[in-house]
Amino acid sequence: MYRRRLSLTVISAAVVLLLTGCPSYPEVHGKPGAAGVRDPLFGTLGNGGYDVSSYSLVLDYDPPTGRLSGTADVFARATQDLSAFNLDLHGLAIESVMVNNRKAVFDRVGDEVTVHMDKHVAKGAPVRALVRYAGSPRTITDADGSKEGWLRTVDGALAVGEPTGSMTWFPGNHHPSDKATYDVKITVPKGLQAISNGVLHDRYPTGDRTTFFWKSADAMPSYAAMLAIGRYNMTSSAVPRTGQPVVTAVAPSVAKESAEVLARIPEVMNWAAKKFGRYPFGAFGAIVVPKGQLDYALETQTRPVFPIDHLDEDTLVHEVAHQWYGNSVTLKTWKDMWLNEGFATYAEWLWNEDYNNTSAQERFEAAFALDANWEFAPADPPSAAQVSDAPVYERGAMVLHKVRQALGDKTFFRILPLWAQTHLHRNASTADFTAYVEKMSGKDLDPLWDTWLYGNEKPKSP
Ligand SMILES: [Zn+2]
Repeated sequence: MYRRRLSLTVISAAVVLLLTGCPSYPEVHGKPGAAGVRDPLFGTLGNGGYDVSSYSLVLDYDPPTGRLSGTADVFARATQDLSAFNLDLHGLAIESVMVNNRKAVFDRVGDEVTVHMDKHVAKGAPVRALVRYAGSPRTITDADGSKEGWLRTVDGALAVGEPTGSMTWFPGNHHPSDKATYDVKITVPKGLQAISNGVLHDRYPTGDRTTFFWKSADAMPSYAAMLAIGRYNMTSSAVPRTGQPVVTAVAPSVAKESAEVLARIPEVMNWAAKKFGRYPFGAFGAIVVPKGQLDYALETQTRPVFPIDHLDEDTLVHEVAHQWYGNSVTLKTWKDMWLNEGFATYAEWLWNEDYNNTSAQERFEAAFALDANWEFAPADPPSAAQVSDAPVYERGAMVLHKVRQALGDKTFFRILPLWAQTHLHRNASTADFTAYVEKMSGKDLDPLWDTWLYGNEKPKSP
């Protein structure tokens, strides 16, 4: 009986299909997604209307000419009924865009590429954009004068993206609130290495060139994506106890000079896991480049970049701590930068307390005395040019030290890893942090936040 009823249903469905043709979906009348996510410091960064889950980049780089060509396969979901959406891309020329396997029309004003869809997409439905592009990627000079984005080197290139530079080498939703996984296939001349984030999934010859295939299976903010192309000495080892692969790539000219600090990676990782909880990613490593290629070290996810003149014990601790605070728990907007830098700076203070006989209290008092730390409140950098200034780093660390004093060591060192664990691979804001600390400790800390986190007035005493 069951079978007979089923056949009748199938037959009637077939009859309906014959009569009406293919089933049609209700037509969606969407609206364009916004050209930015209204970041208080970087208003046009990122885009509204969709949320990216993964980027699959297939790239080819020719160092002598500086030409990069590639395709970006961007998998996203619409967060509204969508008729058009923007991608952020700096400099490179777009050859074509396909959306959900249909050719799409696009136009462009500066770094904003608007992609129009003839078939609109309903909220929640997939949006897959396949973008072909090429050109000579550019370097961006930030409001504070530092260089980021694509940096050409003697034998290759280095790509670092905080805060806006990743749009120099691939199109996407370049705001940290939209984290995604990444597959990066990059083909370079034989004899050169090409290193990106995550795990080296494959490496194979492509004609007389070499293709490297890197996979980042954990969500990453686009500013933490990196590429290093050139001659590097490669080493592989493993994170102590948990066993994730550790890949280091060191420019040959600085190999000897960097050996001592790099040898401390296992010790630092061990210490960090004790303080901050289990290491949040499937790989680690480091890139060391010669002096002059970059003016700062950067915590690029799973594989921080160090110019040799910035490679020291404190900076290693700082960039390792960022894997928890910044890369796994990522800021919601750039105003929350102290959640990255205050934590990484406080990690240095904690390391020196444990290893070098300098207490966090001493570091706190020294930071308190510095006028530069009182130029603005750490939770409120007034402009994009000040997002990496002293108050974000040192006064951010001072906030954590005050929290430690208010809660006591036992509660503070319980909350420190729990904050990372609770927000694993997600985003958090300053308000999320203060609410979390108050909830976990059961204390009202408003006076502390008002003075140390949001306040501009230097208190009379530390
Ligand atoms: Zn930092």
